[in-house]
Amino acid sequence: MASRLIQVDDFDLVIFGATGDLARRKILPALFRRHAAGQFPPDARIIGAARSPLDDAAFRKDVAAAIAEFDPPRAQSPELPGFLERLSYIAIDAGGDAGWPDLAARMRKGVVQAFYLSVAPSLFGDIARRLADHSVAGADARIVAEKPFGRDLDTARALNRTLVRHFAEAQIYRIDHYLGKETVQNLMAVRFANMLFEPLWNALYIDHVQITVAETVGVAGRGAYYDHAGAMRDMVQNHLMQLVCLIAMEPPWHFDPDAVRDEKLKVIRALEPVAPADVVRGQYAAGAAPSYAQDVDNPHSRTESFVALKLRIANWRWQGVPFYLRTGKRLLERSSEIAVVFREPPHSIFDDSAGHKANQLVIRLQPNEGINLKVMIKEPGPGGMRLVEVPLDMSFAEALGPEGADMPDAYERLITDVIRGNQTLFMRGDEVEAAWAWIDPIIASWENGSARPEPYQPGSSGPDEALALMHRDGRRWREIRA
Ligand code: NAP
Repeated sequence: MASRLIQVDDFDLVIFGATGDLARRKILPALFRRHAAGQFPPDARIIGAARSPLDDAAFRKDVAAAIAEFDPPRAQSPELPGFLERLSYIAIDAGGDAGWPDLAARMRKGVVQAFYLSVAPSLFGDIARRLADHSVAGADARIVAEKPFGRDLDTARALNRTLVRHFAEAQIYRIDHYLGKETVQNLMAVRFANMLFEPLWNALYIDHVQITVAETVGVAGRGAYYDHAGAMRDMVQNHLMQLVCLIAMEPPWHFDPDAVRDEKLKVIRALEPVAPADVVRGQYAAGAAPSYAQDVDNPHSRTESFVALKLRIANWRWQGVPFYLRTGKRLLERSSEIAVVFREPPHSIFDDSAGHKANQLVIRLQPNEGINLKVMIKEPGPGGMRLVEVPLDMSFAEALGPEGADMPDAYERLITDVIRGNQTLFMRGDEVEAAWAWIDPIIASWENGSARPEPYQPGSSGPDEALALMHRDGRRWREIRA
């Protein structure tokens, strides 16, 4: 199944923070892959910007080293020299005025201009202002903002105000890389390009939805940032919330940025406040590796490395259908999935001994991206009527051959969309603020109380209280499996 590759328009892309971890690990390797795929026109240019005093040659060398480190199979690719040719570098301090006129002089008119802010959010305002003051950015330039977008409603609002002072909302691309994942987009295709699921996609037929984003790694290396954030801010406010939106939203009238984002916003606005009893937070204890408190070097830390919660959406479609969310570090396996668990048939014609299970639609985000529908069939054989659950497997690697296995990384997709000027997979300012408005009271109740997160064993499924959250509703989490 050959995918159609459509070249993007000619562009100048400036990456602020081009020497940083995210640029080296994700953004530049993703750009290289798109270059190697032939997606970029011959003159498209990528300009790295940071304070370090590098020249073009040193920057190119560093990018080649980053590709060797983070995408080793491509380090020897014959396309690498051509990619490096596209790169140049400018030493610039976001906090000073030197260098900006040089950058302005380098930008070409009549091509797409994009500015990727891969720097601390505290620098967004400085950069946006200087891009405008020094006439670096043309009227249609695009600004890409990395997460975290604020740490609460007030800071997110302030960040939005800062950006919209210099750029229109239609120019601002707030990245949530989960939205760039192929399976997440497929969720929209499965829901809205098939007649099969949508009639069942409501409280009459769905019992509950569970979303798990489990990591095996701890926070070592990112401790200073993480201890200030925690799982709720780092994962739930953005990634998990976006997944909830895509599962729960009404069909947009068109696959168009504002139509999609309007529907997502309605979901967030319809979220009911969460009762304290419906949230569990945890912190990993010491095992073979150090505990969370040791990793962040803060024995008194009350920051959560795990959250599980039950949320409800106050609208007709989802009346009475709980959404269970959990995410955490140092868990059993690295595994992210959404499971839509359907109701049991209203009346079973089979004996209890037949072994009936509810249908599940499982959308796996990682590893092995794919979609799996679990259905009941008769167990083959002459003995009575026994039922067995079998998966209808839509895993991409099998269905689409090598192309399915070699899917573009989320950043490849998202950066290409920035160049194309397509905001569908980016968060709008009001969406981000609505998500904070829902999350803030939960975090405030923790911060105002004295309780500590529940400790959990590394390599487990999280604290027992998270299991109890579902058990007391007569339900259970799916096993965390890679
Ligand atoms: P990082 O490794 O600390 O890199 C920061 C970059 O910003 C460096 O290139 C640094 O280069 C540059 N910089 C710092 N101060 C500057 C200034 N005053 N003017 C111009 N450039 C400046 O950070 P990172 O991990 O790449 O993260 C970048 C952003 O992405 C952050 O907002 C982070 O929250 C977000 N993010 C990161 C990840 C990740 O996995 N790393 C994931 C999601 C989101 P110089 O020191 O040479 O100036």
